[in-house]
Amino acid sequence: MEQVAIVGAGIGGLTLALALRQRGVDAVVYEQASSLHEIGAAVALSANATRLLAELGVGDALDEVSTEPTELIFRSWSDGRRISSFPVKEEQWYRTTCGAPYYGVHRKELQRILGQAWGEDAVRLGHRLVGLDRTVDGVRLTWADGTSDTADLVVGADGVRSTVRQWMTGGDDTRFSGTSGFRGIVPVDLLPSLPDPQAIQFWVGPGAHLLHYAIGRDGGHVNFLAVVEGPDRWRQGSVWRDDCAHDEAMAHFQGWHPAVTEMVGAVTHTERWGLFVVQSLRHWSRGHVVLIGDAAHGMLPHQGQGANQTIEDAVVLADLLVTPGTDSVQQRLAEYEHRRKPRARRVQRLSWVTNRILHVEDGPEASARNAMLQDVARDIRWIHDFDARRQMPSSLMKRV
Ligand SMILES: Cc1cc2nc3c(=O)[nH]c(=O)nc-3n(C[C@H](O)[C@H](O)[C@H](O)COP(=O)(O)OP(=O)(O)OC[C@H]3O[C@@H](n4cnc5c(N)ncnc54)[C@H](O)[C@@H]3O)c2cc1C
Repeated sequence: MEQVAIVGAGIGGLTLALALRQRGVDAVVYEQASSLHEIGAAVALSANATRLLAELGVGDALDEVSTEPTELIFRSWSDGRRISSFPVKEEQWYRTTCGAPYYGVHRKELQRILGQAWGEDAVRLGHRLVGLDRTVDGVRLTWADGTSDTADLVVGADGVRSTVRQWMTGGDDTRFSGTSGFRGIVPVDLLPSLPDPQAIQFWVGPGAHLLHYAIGRDGGHVNFLAVVEGPDRWRQGSVWRDDCAHDEAMAHFQGWHPAVTEMVGAVTHTERWGLFVVQSLRHWSRGHVVLIGDAAHGMLPHQGQGANQTIEDAVVLADLLVTPGTDSVQQRLAEYEHRRKPRARRVQRLSWVTNRILHVEDGPEASARNAMLQDVARDIRWIHDFDARRQMPSSLMKRV
C-alpha cells in the first residue's frame, strides 16, 4: 500500500492512522478544523474497542482519565425504582466476562490521547475536503482553499455528514431520526437525589429517556444525554444543532424523578442535538475510496456504539490493507465491507429498536419491556465481547 490519505482526524481517522503505522504504513491525515478539538461531551468505550485501543498502545493513557461504571442500571422515570441492574466494575464482572474494560471518558481526553499518540503535528489541519476525482495517478483530493493532493487510496473518516460519501453515492444519505437530545456534564455534587452516581444508568419513561455515566479520573462529573421524541421535522436541514430555550429541555422531563430534573436543570440548555443516522449504503467503497465509522454507518447512540464500531472498522481495515498477498486494493476493500457491514448494520438496527423500547408508555408495553430488560446484559454480549481481531487476516496483533 503506497500513499493513504485519511480525511477526518476524529476517532476513526486517528485510530486508522495509528493502526496503519503499527503495521508499517504512514498515512497522511487531513482535518478540516484548525485544531484537534472534541465534539460533544463524553463517550462510553466498550470492550470491543478498548481491547483494540490497548493494542495500539493507548490503553494506559485511557485508563488514567476514564471512569469504569460500577453497574449498568435501568430505572423507572417516575419513582426511580430499579427495573434491572448488572455489575460492571463490581467484582470485575465486565472485564472478566468481556475481556477488556468499559470506560466513560471525556471526548476531549480521548481526542487528546489519540492525537498525541499519532502526533498532532502530523495532522494536516485546516484541510476541508470539497471534491474528489479519479486521475491516472490515483485519487485527487481538492481542498476548500483550492489546493489539492493525490493519494493511492482515500479513506473517508469524515463523520456522519461525510463529503467522501456524498462523492461516492451522489446524494445525501443522512436521515433525521425524529428524535433529539439535550446533553451536558454536571458535577456529581450538584446531584443530591442521584442514586448510584458512579453507575451507567438509563432512566426510561414515556417518550423520553436519560442516559448518564460518570467520567474523569475520579468520576467527579456525570455526562448525560436526555433523548426525547421529536421534532417531526428538523428545521436546520443538515446542521445537527438547533437553538432551544432552557425551558424546552425541562418541559420534557416534568414529573420525572428529582435525579433527572436536577441533572437536566443543572445545565443551561441553549441547543438541542438532532439525532441523525446514515441510511444503509449499497457499498462502502468506490474504486480506491472507502468509508469508515459514521461516514459508513452513522447510528443512533442508544447502544453507545458509534465510536466503538468506528474503532473496529479502523483496525480491521488497516489489517486488511497491509496483509501480504496478491489481492488488489479493490478486493481488499470489498473484503473489509464483507467483514464489517453485517455487524455494523445489526448494531445500527438495534439502536433504532432500543429507542422505541425505551420510550413506551407505562402499561402492558412497559411491563413487557421491563421483563426484557432483565436479560439485557446477556442479550448484548455479542456486541461487547466481540473481538475484531478475529476478523483480521494477520496474526500481527497478539491476544491480550
Ligand atoms: C449524542 C451522542 C452521543 C454519543 N455517545 C456515544 C457513546 O457513548 N459511545 C460511542 O461509541 N459512540 C457514541 N456516539 C457516536 C460517536 O460520537 C460517533 O460514532 C463517532 O464520533 C464517529 O467517529 P468518526 O471518526 O466516524 O466521526 P467523527 O468523530 O465525527 O469525526 C469526523 C472528523 O472528520 C472531520 N471532517 C468532517 N468533514 C470533513 C471534510 N470535508 N474535510 C476534512 N475533515 C472533515 C471532522 O471535523 C471530524 O474531526 C454518540 C453520538 C452522539 C450524537
